[in-house]
Amino acid sequence: MEILDKKTKIISNEPIDVVKVERACEIISGLQKDIKLFSSKGAGPFVAAIYDDKGNELVKTCNSVVEEICSHNHAEVNAIREIEKRLGTYDLSSYNLSLYITAEPCMMCIGAIMWSGIKNVYYGVPSKTVEKITGFDEGFKPDWIEEFRKRGITVYGNILPELGEEALKDYVENGHKVYKPKR
Ligand SMILES: [Zn+2]
Repeated sequence: MEILDKKTKIISNEPIDVVKVERACEIISGLQKDIKLFSSKGAGPFVAAIYDDKGNELVKTCNSVVEEICSHNHAEVNAIREIEKRLGTYDLSSYNLSLYITAEPCMMCIGAIMWSGIKNVYYGVPSKTVEKITGFDEGFKPDWIEEFRKRGITVYGNILPELGEEALKDYVENGHKVYKPKR
């Protein structure tokens, strides 16, 4: 895993490409702002978007667990479901798609991404911060970024984490729902 520099602490499983990082900063900062919009309608607090390799946004989705009463309707799963339906395939690997997410994917979404054929993943705030602020349980994920590298999936993470942190704090402080099964 590479670290761009001590200040940004971006992590990746390929040599850091500054152009990709800049693009990801632009897209993810937009998605972080969208959390407020989605959560005002009862969804959130995670947003995902899928882009093609020419930089076009194809889908943008939010976590809809509460509103649709479905525990696996995370933003990433919703995005993958929508794009597969639209393209008419369960194998996205030939499209070289990129998934941008406001937060590190949970253990379920890592599996969903792996099965979908998505080729590039960019995320904002890391799981440990998500858990600290919201109390969501993101699951156990031993070295998933390295496992993705072995499968030809590039990952860039910790992109503008302070923005993600702010968006999650805002969600919690405004009394939006933090759901989870009883332990
Ligand atoms: Zn998830």
